[in-house]
Amino acid sequence: MTQEFKPVRVRFAPSPTGYLHLGSARTALYDYLIARKTGGQFILRIEDTDRKRLVDGAEEELMSNLRWLGMEWDEGPDIGGHYAPYRQSERKEIYQEYGEKLVESGFAYYCFCTPQRLAAVREEKQKKKEPPHYDRICRSIPIEEARERIAAGESHVLRFKTPIEGTTIVKDLLRGDISFENKTLDDYILIKSDGWALYHLAAAVDDHLMKITHVVRSSEWLPTSPIHSLIHQAFGWDEPVWVHLSVLLKPSGKGKMSKREAVELSGEGHSIFIKDMQGLGYLPEAVVNWVALMGWSYDDHTEFFSMQDLIEKFSLEKLNPAPAATNFTKFDYFNKLHIKVLSDADLAERLQPYFKTAGIQTDKKVLEKIAPIVKERIVTLDDAVEMAKFFFTDKITYSKERILMEGCDAKGTIEIGRRILEELKSLKEWNTADLDLIVRGMMEKEGKEPKQFLGFLREVISGQKISPPLFESMEILGKEVVLKRLENALRFIEENFD
Ligand code: GLU
Repeated sequence: MTQEFKPVRVRFAPSPTGYLHLGSARTALYDYLIARKTGGQFILRIEDTDRKRLVDGAEEELMSNLRWLGMEWDEGPDIGGHYAPYRQSERKEIYQEYGEKLVESGFAYYCFCTPQRLAAVREEKQKKKEPPHYDRICRSIPIEEARERIAAGESHVLRFKTPIEGTTIVKDLLRGDISFENKTLDDYILIKSDGWALYHLAAAVDDHLMKITHVVRSSEWLPTSPIHSLIHQAFGWDEPVWVHLSVLLKPSGKGKMSKREAVELSGEGHSIFIKDMQGLGYLPEAVVNWVALMGWSYDDHTEFFSMQDLIEKFSLEKLNPAPAATNFTKFDYFNKLHIKVLSDADLAERLQPYFKTAGIQTDKKVLEKIAPIVKERIVTLDDAVEMAKFFFTDKITYSKERILMEGCDAKGTIEIGRRILEELKSLKEWNTADLDLIVRGMMEKEGKEPKQFLGFLREVISGQKISPPLFESMEILGKEVVLKRLENALRFIEENFD
C-alpha cells in the first residue's frame, strides 16, 4: 500500500492577498482529491499574516469560489475544527512562543540591524557578485544582551540560524531528493519587527500542530523549501511529505502565467480567476476537469472526469512536475463535454440566471424544452442566451438583408410565405415530425433548397442567423406564435420593399 492510502491531512493555505486563480485552484483540488480518496481531512487555513497586502473581501470570495467548485473543507476558519483557529492572524502568540523556543534551543537569534544597514550590506554583496544575503552580524550578540535591548524597546526581527556548511536535502514526492548547499541559503526572517510571523515559521508551526501529513503547494516555494525542512528538524518534528506542483505556463507555453498575461486574457473573454468563470458561462465541473489535467493524467487517453471519477482515480504519484500550459481551447472543449451530460432540468436551471442577467424573463418549462436542443450547440452557458432569446420575446426584429428568401424578390417571398401560412394553419398535429414532413414537402413542391426555404423560416421565427434546429424550435414556440411571426414577417416585407 502506498503512503497515499492512509488517511491524509492536507491543508489548502491561501493568502487573502488576491483571488483564487487557476494555479491555486489546482493546488486546492489536488488537496481535496487526495483527502477524499483516502478518507482523510481537507483543511482550509487562511495565511493572512502579511497584513499590508490583504485584499478586502478576498477571504469570503475564496471560500465561495471553493464551494462553487465543489470542494467543501472539513476544518476551517468558518467551521472550526480540532486545531482551531485556522486563520493565522489569530495565531500570532503561538508563532511567538515557537520562535522563542528556537531561540532557546539555539536555532534562531534576534537581529537589530536597521533597514539602512541591511540595504548597505545587500549593495556591498551585489557589488562583489555574491548572493545578497544578510551578513549574520547579530548572530554573535549574546542572548542576555539581546533580551536587554528588546526590553529597552529596540526594534528587532527574529532570524533563523541557517547552517553555514553542509547540505540540506528536501525529499519531494515528484522530484525526488533535492540537495541544497546550505551556504547558498540566507538567515531568513521568521518574525518581523511588527511581531507578525512570516510564512516560513508560521506554516511550519501550523503544519506540525495541525498534523498535516502532505504539503501540496506551488513550486514557487521550492527555493526556500530547505528552510522549511530545517525548521522542522530544528524542532525535532517529522517533516510532512513535500509535493511541489508543476509551474503553470501562459497559453502560448512560453513563460510563466503573469499578472500582465491575466489582464490580456480578460480582453479575450478569458480569465484565470475562478470568481469570473461563472459569469463567463463555465461550469464548475469543467473547471475542475480542466484544472485536474494540468499536471496530472490518469492514462494517455481518458479526458472526461467528474469530481467522483477524480476522487476514485487521482493519485499524487501520477502528478507530472513538468510545466503545464494553460490551454483555454481545451477549457471550452471540457465545458462543452460537461454541458452535454447535464440533464435537461439541470441545464435549464443553470441557464436561467444568464437570461436573467440579459434582462430576459424565462419560463422554466420552456427552458426545459430548449435545453436538449441547445445542449450540443453551446460552448458556454451564456451562448444559450443569444441562441434562444427569441423564445421569450414577441418582438422579433427583422433585417432587410436577411428576410427575403434567398434567390427570391419581395413578391416571390410573399407568395411563398402565404402558401406556407395556409399550409401551417391547416396543420392538425403541431410537432417536430409533422412540421418536418410538411415543410420539406412544400420545399420540394416549390423547388427550393433547404438553405433558401428553411433559412427563410429560421429568420421568420427567430430573426437570427443562427438558431437551434428549426422544427424543434417551431414546436416549442407553438402554432399560434409561429403563425403570428410569419404574418408579421410578411407584413414587414410588404412595408419595406417596393
Ligand atoms: N500562503 C502560501 C501561498 O499562498 C501557502 C503556500 C503553502 O501552501 O504552503 O502561497
